[in-house]
Amino acid sequence: MNYLLNICSVKKLKKQKHTMTRITIAKGDGIGPEIMEATLNVIKAAGAQIEIDEIEVGEKVYLSGITSGIKDESWDIIRTNKVFLKAPITTPQGGGYKSLNVTTRKFLGLYANVRPCVSFHPFIATKHPKMDVVIVRENEEDLYAGIEHQQTDEVVQCLKLISRPGCEKIVRYAFEYAKQYGRKKVTCMTKDNIMKQTDGLFREVFTEIAKEYPEIENEHWIIDIGSAKLADTPEDFDVIVTLNLYGDVISDIAAQITGSVGLAGSSNIGEECAMFEAIHGSAPMIAGQGIANPTGLIEGAVLMLNHIGQSGVAQKVKNALLKTIEQGTHTADIYNPAISKKKVGTKEFSEAVIANLGTTPSTLKAVDFKNGAALKLPKYVRKASKNKSLLGVDAFVHWNGTDPNEIAKKLQELNSNGLPLKMITNRGIKVWPNGFQETFCTDHWRCRFQHPENKEVTKEDLITILKSALEKGIDIVKTENLYSFDGKQAYSLGQGQ
Ligand code: NAD
Repeated sequence: MNYLLNICSVKKLKKQKHTMTRITIAKGDGIGPEIMEATLNVIKAAGAQIEIDEIEVGEKVYLSGITSGIKDESWDIIRTNKVFLKAPITTPQGGGYKSLNVTTRKFLGLYANVRPCVSFHPFIATKHPKMDVVIVRENEEDLYAGIEHQQTDEVVQCLKLISRPGCEKIVRYAFEYAKQYGRKKVTCMTKDNIMKQTDGLFREVFTEIAKEYPEIENEHWIIDIGSAKLADTPEDFDVIVTLNLYGDVISDIAAQITGSVGLAGSSNIGEECAMFEAIHGSAPMIAGQGIANPTGLIEGAVLMLNHIGQSGVAQKVKNALLKTIEQGTHTADIYNPAISKKKVGTKEFSEAVIANLGTTPSTLKAVDFKNGAALKLPKYVRKASKNKSLLGVDAFVHWNGTDPNEIAKKLQELNSNGLPLKMITNRGIKVWPNGFQETFCTDHWRCRFQHPENKEVTKEDLITILKSALEKGIDIVKTENLYSFDGKQAYSLGQGQ
């Protein structure tokens, strides 16, 4: 091998001084080792100035009893080198194993997932020949915080957490990315018509930050119609920024409609560290046969080369890759007798890319990465605290009855220190007062106690309610305080309230 493969201790790593960039790689599982070898051969042949530390992640590590899929000492190497090129891994079936991708993103604060989705028309079949979209997905928050609880026999919940720093970082990243890569428009997608607090905050931050970039067009789409439009006319979009769950879904849709999910790479960017990968999995069915397509991981490596400031090499690799696809040299997954000229294996494909280094495609659009390199974003600065007032409490009650009037009567009998019961909802829909008989109710009741004139209350008032409920055998499974911040109501109304 013509690259330095060196697994060494972190102490040793810190002592060494290099002009080259030291990166960490993991060959992963299934087709991982084959496509990693092909990728490294291509980027080294293109002149990548890198030195490599290899770590082991994935199936073998999981099955050795490490449920995270990665050893502690491997974290040290990743954190020292700060740049991680990872091949796909196989997550063993069955409970207890944690997703290494999710853990890596969270531990290393990799808040931005960036996935360029470009079609290779007319060389790879697609309904969207002009598609060239970059999805910038928030990577740490949202329902992916994984905070879930069962609260009653019938109801489980997952907390959706959205923070201002999280929104500011990802939205600014999207605009800075658009600026650096000469993109014209950033589209925000949320569901703020329904989730006014969480998605509302994301959109509010988008509107604020968009003003700092007057040269870049901005727009907002509700995620449902926005995704439909993306699937129908992707050429109308440029950069899309969105929350974690929506981003997860639309980034796979976007990659698939370019022609194949197997061709895209993605980067996961944090303030300190970054991870680069193909978006596909370890394809165990075709592992070891030498037929896997290495394009996705090569695309991941192109993003990495830009990130470490080796944009010239990134450009050379990408243009050679485009040229190879254009020549009809295709692996089995994209081979189409009507378009392709030659069916090749993983190694032959990478050799064809190497032979094309220094050339540019004639039909596909050649890339120009003169403005590559990692984005330098300002660190988030915490804002001054707002004036926070406590206005009441939502007490969630586990109750097996069916008539809301009955539970309302019990709650009205509590000592609530002058905080009357204002409303009851079931799965968010108001069922008391004046509920509809037709509304289906579960055993999970949100009961709101609030001062009639919206005056400030104390935590002691809330404790009095909880104590009284305990004495009367009412099962309160959780509470949420009702606040206003700088006089602005900071909780949702019941649907129908
Ligand atoms: P997959 O992406 O591995 O495979 C889906 C289909 O695409 C298969 O038919 C496969 O043969 C084909 N395919 C994928 N990549 C290809 C390539 N480079 N060349 C040619 N064909 C390719 O998805 P899966 O089958 O759902 O998952 C397999 C394993 O991968 C699972 O254990 C899953 O957890 C894991 N996975 C890992 C990652 C990751 O590490 N980032 C991502 C997704 C899935």
